[in-house]
Amino acid sequence: MKARRRTGPTDVVKALVYDRDGGACVRCGTREHLTIHHRVNRGMGGAREAWINQAHNLLLVCTVCNGWFEDNPRQSYEAGWKVRRPELPSEVLVRYADGHEYLLTPDGVRAATVAAVAR
Ligand SMILES: [Zn+2]
Repeated sequence: MKARRRTGPTDVVKALVYDRDGGACVRCGTREHLTIHHRVNRGMGGAREAWINQAHNLLLVCTVCNGWFEDNPRQSYEAGWKVRRPELPSEVLVRYADGHEYLLTPDGVRAATVAAVAR
């Protein structure tokens, strides 16, 4: 497996994220200037964990919100837009522009939360 050192998600995963998030920024809902945001940073030296470039660690966001996350880390962690190690992106709820919070899975499913979800 020589091609192991890819630094970003595959096109398949990007398409999955785009579809899951409805082609709109997760935070503000715009459909312009969209990019893929990593909830857990890739960190120095690239990704070691397989999930770094899987759908549940990725959000479709606009470039404005992507910059906002960096300027407002506390609120970003609260909303699940950023995730701090050792927490896993599969375990942290994400707030969407519709005001609901969702759990994301590696296969691109966005599950609406129910009361039984443990944090
Ligand atoms: Zn936005």
